[in-house]
Amino acid sequence: VLIVKTVDELNRVRASYSGSLGFIPTMGALHKGHISLIKESLVNNKHTFVSIFVNPTQFLEGEDLDKYPKTIEADIKLCQVLNVDVLFMPSKDDIYFDNEIKIQAPFIKSYILEGYNRPAHFDGVLQVVLKLFNIVKPSKAYFGKKDAQQLFLISNMVKKLFLPIEIIPKDIIRDDDGLALSSRNIYLTPQQRNQALAIPKSLLKASNLISNGLVDSIKIKNSIKETLKDIDIIEYIEVVDREFNRIKEIDVKNSIILIAVRVGNTRLIDNIWI
Ligand code: AMP
Repeated sequence: VLIVKTVDELNRVRASYSGSLGFIPTMGALHKGHISLIKESLVNNKHTFVSIFVNPTQFLEGEDLDKYPKTIEADIKLCQVLNVDVLFMPSKDDIYFDNEIKIQAPFIKSYILEGYNRPAHFDGVLQVVLKLFNIVKPSKAYFGKKDAQQLFLISNMVKKLFLPIEIIPKDIIRDDDGLALSSRNIYLTPQQRNQALAIPKSLLKASNLISNGLVDSIKIKNSIKETLKDIDIIEYIEVVDREFNRIKEIDVKNSIILIAVRVGNTRLIDNIWI
């Protein structure tokens, strides 16, 4: 793996790669969720670039920007073993300038759910993803369904700004106990992790109820709420269609059930695509 730390160097390096290029933007602390995106790119592209950049503009005041997990050595080793072509690790000053151009993520869809609990979070996400796309110039970019609203908003940006990039969504990767993999899981104490297992359990139960014919969103949400009763704070439980409109009834192949909670100080999100 070639490690590239500046935009200038990336520009030079990028020019020597022709043919299809798959790109996986990450914030590092790589886990099996990231690996599944990388492997998909390796199989389907001539070249694969991964970025690690903990983007300050998508963190709100008081969030975990400064203590976001860092496992740089292990991340480099992993990219090496997987045979990633380029690992791009820019610094903040490389990506951002004084008097920055701000991206305004589309209203409503960026200010509900994740965006309601983290106002302007998606402005920062779209800003950095657009910059990274312009720098890396990928043919395809890979994103996890774990961050479903982010995936929707990025696909929407690509479509509306006519970016010549194909967005490839990938299924959520879970640990053996069902918990969706997240870099933030390392914040959890064993006891908190045990509590957090109610999240995948509640989604599984909801999906079983739906298989048995339940379609009413309120009843589905109540069932989830019941399973999550020991969780400290529930930020939201919502049923939306794939365009992130709230729906009263499940529409099979066009629905997502979303959960965001706090266990101790750790914010966890999960979802299931129905
Ligand atoms: P992050 O490093 O958290 O910004 O995530 C980088 C990419 O990995 C995003 O597209 C995430 O949606 C994706 N991702 C994170 N966790 C998982 C997971 N458990 N399964 C699949 N993709 C994931």
